[in-house]
Amino acid sequence: MWRRLIILPTVILLIFLNIITESDFSLLFLMAPFLFLLAFYFSIIGDRLSTCVTVGLLLLWTIYAASRSQNSIHLLLILSFVLVALAVSLYEWHWAHRIREAEERKQRTCNETKVLQEKTSARLDSLKHLESRVNGLIQLFEIARDFNECLNFSEILSVLDQKITPQLSFARGAIILPSGAGGSIHCLSFGPQSRGDKDLSARFAEVCLKMVTVLDQTVKLEAPMDEEQNQFASFDTLFPLWLFPLSMERQLIAVLAVEGGDQNDFQKFEVLASQLTLQVKKVRLYETVRETSIVDGLTNVFLRRHFLERFREELKRAVRYQFPLSVLMVDVDHFKSYNDKFGHLVGDQTLREVAKIIRENVRRVDVIGRYGGEEFIIVAPEIGKAQGLELAERIRSAVAKKRLHLYDEETQITVSIGVSAFPDSLGRQPIKEFQEEHLTTLIQKTDEAMYRAKEEGRNRAVTYD
Ligand code: GH3
Ligand code: MG
Ligand code: MG
Repeated sequence: MWRRLIILPTVILLIFLNIITESDFSLLFLMAPFLFLLAFYFSIIGDRLSTCVTVGLLLLWTIYAASRSQNSIHLLLILSFVLVALAVSLYEWHWAHRIREAEERKQRTCNETKVLQEKTSARLDSLKHLESRVNGLIQLFEIARDFNECLNFSEILSVLDQKITPQLSFARGAIILPSGAGGSIHCLSFGPQSRGDKDLSARFAEVCLKMVTVLDQTVKLEAPMDEEQNQFASFDTLFPLWLFPLSMERQLIAVLAVEGGDQNDFQKFEVLASQLTLQVKKVRLYETVRETSIVDGLTNVFLRRHFLERFREELKRAVRYQFPLSVLMVDVDHFKSYNDKFGHLVGDQTLREVAKIIRENVRRVDVIGRYGGEEFIIVAPEIGKAQGLELAERIRSAVAKKRLHLYDEETQITVSIGVSAFPDSLGRQPIKEFQEEHLTTLIQKTDEAMYRAKEEGRNRAVTYD
């Protein structure tokens, strides 16, 4: 703006010159190059108004000067001078205009570049975030491969505790297993914190299971607000609480409950839930298969093959540590005619009852097997011959006393029991090392004792020898 002030002294100079040039008009023309330069300068810096004013001034001044000198050569010179000045000014003005436009374009491009840069950096940030999430998920998938090795729930829990828990941010986790036929709900806890109180865990599991069964979808409870959530608050629940149904073929297998989880890890828990569905199903199947291959479906005692394995282990231990062991063979008396009289269904239930009575009378360490159709075999570790006979007597009298109410029939049954014991029934020689024949001999002697009990009139317990 200050540059325009040059015009003012110029005008004053022109007036002053006009006054002092009384006769020498050529002096007047000296101002023309000065005005020309000034106009040129304004056109270069792009000041259009000042350029116009200066060119106008130049034009007026030269016409005025020419009119005063009245010299035709002067006039021609002045006119050509003015035209050149005009042409140069216009040319410069044109380029100044173009430069300004280019600058404006450059500014616009700069602004656009800035916006693009901001957008790119935002995209990069979100890409990085996405990458870290994908990496987390991949890691989770890889860790979850360890589940394939698991054959029971305690192995699954140890993978969850050791490998999954450090990768995810949450307070408490649980796999809730619905009850089987007549069983109770299981709550298998994992994670950095634990609920501690078993009863509280069981009730928490029950409420979670009920909610997922009713809603049939993933449940997300952010805070204890309404009644349903207050219900959870009474179990000392940490929020947010997420319940993932683990379902297969529209059947709820289990529920994954996560307390106090970080929102950023929600997706990872979803992946974990899908992994766990397969694993829980596999372990449950494995357990069922294992159970059916070792446990007799009717009487719920070990099948003969598994019983023999357990018997072998117990006998080896007895030999190694030189402690006694008793073997009992229980055979139901006159079961054939019992079956004929009451039918096979009653017979089956009776066998179930006999097995139940045996279970009620032995210790937890004793091993019971179904040896034949209506024959049970029991191994009682650390029990000698006399105590073995006592146990047999206890079982015999419990069976004899029992009144069975089966299918509208009231029945009663007796059993004959043969008893043998290690080391007594294996001869007088001390046994220092286990041999397979010790096992078969003991079974054989027990069987013989049982047949003796039959011979002696049944409903009795007899030891070998
Ligand atoms: P005792 O032992 O007193 O000499 O006579 P018993 O009639 O019990 O003798 P035996 O060993 O000849 O008969 C066993 C019967 O047990 C034959 C079979 O019908 C019956 N039995 C075997 N297994 C089952 C079963 O799973 N269910 C039922 N209902 N009966 C069975
Ligand atoms: Mg028999
Ligand atoms: Mg019998």
